[in-house]
Amino acid sequence: MSRRLKLPNVGTTIFTTMSRLATEKGAVNLGQGFPDFEPPAELLERVAHHLRARHNQYAPMAGVPALLEQIGSKLARFHGITVEPQAEVTVTAGGTEALFCAIQAVTHPGDEVVLLEPCFDSYAPAVELAGGRSVRVPLTPPGFCIDFDRLAAALTPRSRLLVVNTPHNPSGSLVTSEDWQRLSVLLERTDTLLLSDEVYEHLVYDGRRHASALAIPALRARAFVVFSFGKVFNATGWKVGYCVAPPELSEAFRRVHQFVTFSVSTPVQHGIADYLGLHPEFFAELAAFYQARRDRFVELLQGSGFTARPSEGTYFQLADYSALSEAPDVDFCLELIETHGVAAIPVSHFCEQPPDCRLLRFCFAKSDHTLELAAARLRP
Ligand code: GLN
Repeated sequence: MSRRLKLPNVGTTIFTTMSRLATEKGAVNLGQGFPDFEPPAELLERVAHHLRARHNQYAPMAGVPALLEQIGSKLARFHGITVEPQAEVTVTAGGTEALFCAIQAVTHPGDEVVLLEPCFDSYAPAVELAGGRSVRVPLTPPGFCIDFDRLAAALTPRSRLLVVNTPHNPSGSLVTSEDWQRLSVLLERTDTLLLSDEVYEHLVYDGRRHASALAIPALRARAFVVFSFGKVFNATGWKVGYCVAPPELSEAFRRVHQFVTFSVSTPVQHGIADYLGLHPEFFAELAAFYQARRDRFVELLQGSGFTARPSEGTYFQLADYSALSEAPDVDFCLELIETHGVAAIPVSHFCEQPPDCRLLRFCFAKSDHTLELAAARLRP
């Protein structure tokens, strides 16, 4: 009997696989992207308060009003845009749910969705579940910039959606304001919508600033833009993110969201809303904090045989191991766990056609102690 089950070619995500292996082998886990710092104490306090204040039943489907309002203020502060939070913001169970709902909301069987590769591993399966077809356009290493000629060639009347990610996981590269302008021109006379994954918006280094698709009105009018609270509050396990989209797109988004999760943890939403109101300055300090982590990690890699171009954003650092091994990245990653006790992520897992380079992704959102331990194990 043919069971015709879905996603036949998809295994367990590399993040889960590597975290499990790291635990089994007692390896330092610089694979899956999560911080080893605690959320701010006052935020924990606020969430605990709402657990006790009986905010334990379903939240409104689109989000707790106080949190939607705070997100509206944050968008005004950081992106200079005015949104109608009740109509244009939806709180989701993390960035991944938002990405999934946006893709399901617009992709019909046979539609093409253009992905810039390497890309996060949930995009293509979400497209497949919607009956769409992923069209991959490689970003150009070593800087992983957009190749506009190749992108222009990939966009056709069948292109339903273009997915862009900045700051970029796994490379840390950034889409600049000029890039967005060029993308806006490319999409101008098309019916192609935009999904912009900006979950690492606050982690941008060396004096650069995050450029959001929301800053360009012509893009904003056709975009779902996805953000995450887990990344910024050291609380990835809370699974809280949000999607910003114009009212009509938000309505379509919510038609899916209501049947995927319906709504998101009520006390956590209230706690975050309180904390955002009390500490609007919180995000301003994040970039300097993580830049110092990145610098420490890049410095610690010296003498290990890995070479690294400092990441421009995210809490990931790519490292080239071609001086150490000719093995494919998956094999080298497994060897690294076995023989050195350090877990990383092979970049080929973000690609259908892996780029011709030998790169591993390390997460540097870790204490000095963790980074030093990893580096000591990586050195010959
Ligand atoms: N975003 C994280 C990463 O890239 C992991 C997310 C997940 O494990 N689903 O490592």
